[in-house]
Amino acid sequence: MAGRLQDTVALVTGASSGIGEATARALAAEGAAVAVLGRRRERLEKLADKVRAEGGTAIVVAADITDQRQAAAAVESVVSELGRLDTVVNNAGTMGVGPVVDSPLEEWERMVEINVRGLLYVTHAAVPHLLRAAEDSPRKVADLVNISSTAGRVARPGTAVYNLTKFGVNGFTEALRQEVMQKRVRVSLVEPGTVETELSSHLRDGVREAVERQVQGMELLQPQDIADAVSYIVTRDRRVAVNEILVRASEQT
Ligand code: NDP
Repeated sequence: MAGRLQDTVALVTGASSGIGEATARALAAEGAAVAVLGRRRERLEKLADKVRAEGGTAIVVAADITDQRQAAAAVESVVSELGRLDTVVNNAGTMGVGPVVDSPLEEWERMVEINVRGLLYVTHAAVPHLLRAAEDSPRKVADLVNISSTAGRVARPGTAVYNLTKFGVNGFTEALRQEVMQKRVRVSLVEPGTVETELSSHLRDGVREAVERQVQGMELLQPQDIADAVSYIVTRDRRVAVNEILVRASEQT
């Protein structure tokens, strides 16, 4: 498939639904060979079939990124199957909501495991390949895009630990950006507002209904809106580094 990412390879984590799925399709539409990562293999196979039906190249990487060995092996398998790694979108994540007092600890642990540790494991394994791609590739640039959230910029009651993880992602992203920018690995942040995905379906009973009430009547963002932001970042000429994009739903505070 011809496009601005032709002859490049992209890895998208959390590609079995929502923002990750839309992003993988968007990058494939720009010509990238995409590796789609998640735990639900069947969903990933369906996505890979769609990409191929649209003329693109896709491979499935079934892995749980909270397991460091699986995360590292996943990155290596992309490089050995597709030959290189030019773009990584750290998108896999989860959200728990509710006051700190009486929150189930398992929910906090899950957020820290996926949103922080998982992102770190994938990044640790991927950065050496991105550095190599920035040097070797015809485009002479590579990209790491971290999907944070408005919750990475604004803290509110009821999202304390989600805020902790996403503020953490923002700080990590900015520090890493400065470490590798001279080597033309661009490290960027995308901060979505409320997007219509499966994210809220994982909330606890009671909490989920309250969150749904909060956004009732609001026209929510669609996964494609965030995929567009990622695609914009990674298709820029190497002289341009779009460090950060915050995308809110129009009616969202
Ligand atoms: P979804 O629940 O639709 O997608 C989450 C993805 O993460 C799934 O593909 C899931 O795949 C994957 N995932 C979860 N745990 C793991 C794991 N341990 N290993 C590998 N993959 C995993 O939600 P969204 O698309 O909404 O979320 C994507 C990102 O966007 C998250 O980081 C989220 O915090 C962020 N975001 C979302 C917003 C929204 O309103 N929806 C707003 C702001 C930010 P599988 O289950 O197959 O492993």
